[in-house]
Amino acid sequence: MADGGGAPLTGYGLRLCPRRRDIFEQMKGKVLGTIDGLPPLREVIRAHDLVARKQLGQNFLLDLNLTAKIARMAGDLSACDVLEVGPGPGGLTRGLLAEGARHVLAVEKDPRCMPALEEIARAFPGRLSVINGDALEVDVLAHLTPPIRIIANLPYNVGTELLIRWLSPPTWPPFWESLTLMFQKEVAERIVARPGSDHYGRLALLAQWRSEPKIVMHLPPEAFTPAPKVHSAVVHLKRLETPRFPADPAVLSRVTAMAFNQRRKMLRSSLKGLGGDVEALLTGLGIAPTARAEEIGLEAFCALARAIASR
Ligand code: SAM
Repeated sequence: MADGGGAPLTGYGLRLCPRRRDIFEQMKGKVLGTIDGLPPLREVIRAHDLVARKQLGQNFLLDLNLTAKIARMAGDLSACDVLEVGPGPGGLTRGLLAEGARHVLAVEKDPRCMPALEEIARAFPGRLSVINGDALEVDVLAHLTPPIRIIANLPYNVGTELLIRWLSPPTWPPFWESLTLMFQKEVAERIVARPGSDHYGRLALLAQWRSEPKIVMHLPPEAFTPAPKVHSAVVHLKRLETPRFPADPAVLSRVTAMAFNQRRKMLRSSLKGLGGDVEALLTGLGIAPTARAEEIGLEAFCALARAIASR
């Protein structure tokens, strides 16, 4: 809250030097128990009767220090618009705003969360817009200004579908610079998996072809309210300006789908549907026809997609 170049105001009409301001912020946090002067999330949930709904994947993060930490994992937000899917009662939203996001667009399907989110919008004037709608349907681009980062504790039921959409736009580079997303641990492991591992498959290929994905945080079930049955992890995906190896996205998608639909079969049989002499095609590219999909790296899959496209 800058004020004509002098020391920042505290929000209570006091003007303090930076050191005293730090002490003041710590005391304020202790009194209110929060990072931003708004009520603690348990109180917000109680006040608005936000009983978690399983069908909406509602497992809330109530520790504001943790949500601020997740926001920091995404990098400097001060010059960015942030798209958040599924803000719920607003724990991560508050973390993003407290960490200085220029503007947050939050898309939430559950109308019960709107009053809680409106309270946050009032506390951060002009920096939070909320849309009550389904993230699979809302045209978010109309409300965002680049550079854009996507940061979310995704609902488990639509998380993978949203990720695949964000990784498969009609043209590359996409509208976002980075994705910082909470998934169940098993999905996070599928995104960063290397060839030969049990988790390796289409999701790893798609993600690693066009971005640099890393697991940046692990969370136990107790970090959420209510606690889910599974562990979770935050994955940070930094987009690449150009895909790692050239390939037609549609052909790569088709060939990886075929190969991994029967992941334990040898490629010479799982890829039979391509027609023609599959063994000769594979051998010509230096890929053993007896290899299985899980043994084949991204570069070889892209070479295969190019060879199929040029047949
Ligand atoms: N961000 C909050 C947090 O970290 O505490 C809530 C995360 S909770 C895992 C997922 C949120 O996504 C819920 O608030 C749920 O209502 C919302 N949601 C579920 N499906 C959605 C959809 N299709 N579009 C937008 N929001 C959705």
